[in-house]
Amino acid sequence: MRYLIISDIHANMTALDAVLASAKGKWEKIVCLGDLVGYGPDPNEVIDCVRSLGAATIRGNHDKAVAGVEDIDDFNPIARAAAMWTRERLRPENREFLQHLAKGPKDVDGFSIVHGSVYDEDEYVYAPELAVEDLKNALTPVTFFGHTHLQGGFTLRGEDVQVLRTAPPAGRESLSITVEPGTTYLLNPGSIGQPRDGNPRAGFAIAEFESRAVEFWRIPYDIASVQERMTRAGLPEPLILRLSFGR
Ligand code: ZN
Repeated sequence: MRYLIISDIHANMTALDAVLASAKGKWEKIVCLGDLVGYGPDPNEVIDCVRSLGAATIRGNHDKAVAGVEDIDDFNPIARAAAMWTRERLRPENREFLQHLAKGPKDVDGFSIVHGSVYDEDEYVYAPELAVEDLKNALTPVTFFGHTHLQGGFTLRGEDVQVLRTAPPAGRESLSITVEPGTTYLLNPGSIGQPRDGNPRAGFAIAEFESRAVEFWRIPYDIASVQERMTRAGLPEPLILRLSFGR
């Protein structure tokens, strides 16, 4: 079984379309690690698409904020403005969909998906010292997580924690790693709609456990067209600009 792993789409339908086109024919089952909305201009389109694909989906912090499941007072002013903008435009059935999204961790055929970390859906796991507890107490050998918008991950073998480098080599769109027995993995497929690791290309992963392979992908999309829609929508300028830099 090949799984398409997507996360942090953030209402960017152009990036999601490009990912689905690029991954076409390469997967049978799809999972989504949350943050379907927030920041971007296409919240209804993205939710409609994820729903139509039948993705096993858990909620992210932006999904909770937009759905009114959680207060948006914790958000910075720019994220809050985008969440308010999204709330006003969401169709009622899509708001309801967000309200009923499951909280991670969720087991999918023997691997786990979480938004932030295994024990705190809102925690940012961006360094090995933050990953170690999750790795030691992981519910399954492989856990996929999002939230940081940083593609990559961490491994634990015995007491040894390592940072995984997953950037595709120059001129290539993907890099494959081998899942070794006896090692625990915390893997981030990257963000589709708002990457923050200095690479503006949309990130996703494809996993096939029979061959023990997880592929990390980065693909280009038409960033300018998303920025145009954001400008027309009156979304905050820093959110528009950062897409160009992947920061
Ligand atoms: Zn996010």
